[in-house]
Amino acid sequence: MSTIQQNLQDVRSRIDAAAQRCARTPEEVKLLAVSKTKPVAAIAEAIAAGQHAFGENYVQEGVDKIQHFALLPEGTGLEWHFIGPLQSNKSKLVAEHFAWCHTLDRLRIAQRLNDQRPTGMPPLNVLIQINISDEQSKSGIVLDELPALAEAVVALPNLSLRGLMAIPAPEADYQRQLAVFSQMNEAFLALKQRYPQVDTLSMGMTDDMAAAIAAGSTLVRIGTAIFGARDYSKA
Ligand SMILES: *Cc1c(COP(=O)(O)O)cnc(C)c1O
Repeated sequence: MSTIQQNLQDVRSRIDAAAQRCARTPEEVKLLAVSKTKPVAAIAEAIAAGQHAFGENYVQEGVDKIQHFALLPEGTGLEWHFIGPLQSNKSKLVAEHFAWCHTLDRLRIAQRLNDQRPTGMPPLNVLIQINISDEQSKSGIVLDELPALAEAVVALPNLSLRGLMAIPAPEADYQRQLAVFSQMNEAFLALKQRYPQVDTLSMGMTDDMAAAIAAGSTLVRIGTAIFGARDYSKA
């Protein structure tokens, strides 16, 4: 078995164990394999091990990979998620190529994505990114701004508001991870009450997936534990 296959198996069992510990079923937690900076050969290995959903952070790199796999038999049924910071001059490529965007944080970009989504493609699934704890980061909105942005996004016909996403500030302590993720889950449940199509809470990475799952995550974004450490010097 290849390293990536072995890693995927390990990550899936970590997800299962975390889910079981809090009486959730593993099927409630989707695994997004974060393949940014990794070559198509690594993605092909993950596909061979049964992985279908991939997350990319850089628009052009993601589009190149999507186009690569679109021509191959093993590329059928893949689901591509854009999870990086989105600038408005790149929104068209996201609207044209991805199935999901996790990092919506302003109405102007939502409107562009809506206008640029090609007719004939299903609505782009979007998550609103919340800045839940990382004051250093400029990504995401504060929770106070969520009701207004959600209402405006729901009115856009070529977008489907599916939920929320967060990247909390790095924190080693499990209980503190849990406290931050639980705030996200509260906001998620309130949003879901108001908009029944909301079903996705994207939180949890290699170092905090257990706490994210305990707090209610429905989608974990895992890179390092599947593909190994990233080398940005080659990017
Ligand atoms: C890189 C990245 C991940 C994966 O992080 P790992 O710690 O390698 O699992 C998840 N989410 C986002 C938004 C990322 O940029």
